[in-house]
Amino acid sequence: MKKLFVISGSSGVGKGTVIKEFLKKHPEFKLSVSCTTRGMRAGEVHGENYFFLSKEEFQKCIENEEFLEWAEFSGNHYGTKKSFVEEYLKRGDNLILEIDTKGALNVKKLMPEAVLIFIAPPSIEELEARLRGRHTETEDAIQKRLASIKLEIENSKKFDYTIVNDTVENAVCELEKILCKN
Ligand code: 5GP
Repeated sequence: MKKLFVISGSSGVGKGTVIKEFLKKHPEFKLSVSCTTRGMRAGEVHGENYFFLSKEEFQKCIENEEFLEWAEFSGNHYGTKKSFVEEYLKRGDNLILEIDTKGALNVKKLMPEAVLIFIAPPSIEELEARLRGRHTETEDAIQKRLASIKLEIENSKKFDYTIVNDTVENAVCELEKILCKN
């Protein structure tokens, strides 16, 4: 049984919803909590969605080599703490990292046993509509995120699996097939 799964997907692709639905059915899987320098969105909780750090705090963690991987995304920093991943894997838990494609490929280099899964939008137009519908980002931020999609899709060619998120039910079903068989 593989223990470490990395799930990536362009912003607004609905990967958060797919993962949440999967976790409801499979409490034996845990979701890693990353660190970020981006501002907290309404409804987010420190320590649950992310550990929200200042730029200075994040920089200190980089210098102290506390991150398994970290990346800059849309002008903010995001990183996965080594200690977090090690603790879960030591306990024998199945851990899911929800990180960007660059981070995922870095994790694969360090931990080749990790299984990489990309959640793709049915179409770019659909993705843009979903991003706008979320009403959480400025136009500038939306443009930056759309620009990163091409790179993400390019990176995803090196992933182990791609799931097209046409409906949440189908995507959860595909995710179950991968996570529960590995
Ligand atoms: P959001 O700001 O929408 O929560 O996340 C933006 C992007 O950062 C998403 O693609 C998400 O998967 C990615 N991300 C979240 N945490 C991490 C992390 O620890 N490392 C990396 N490399 N990317 C992350």
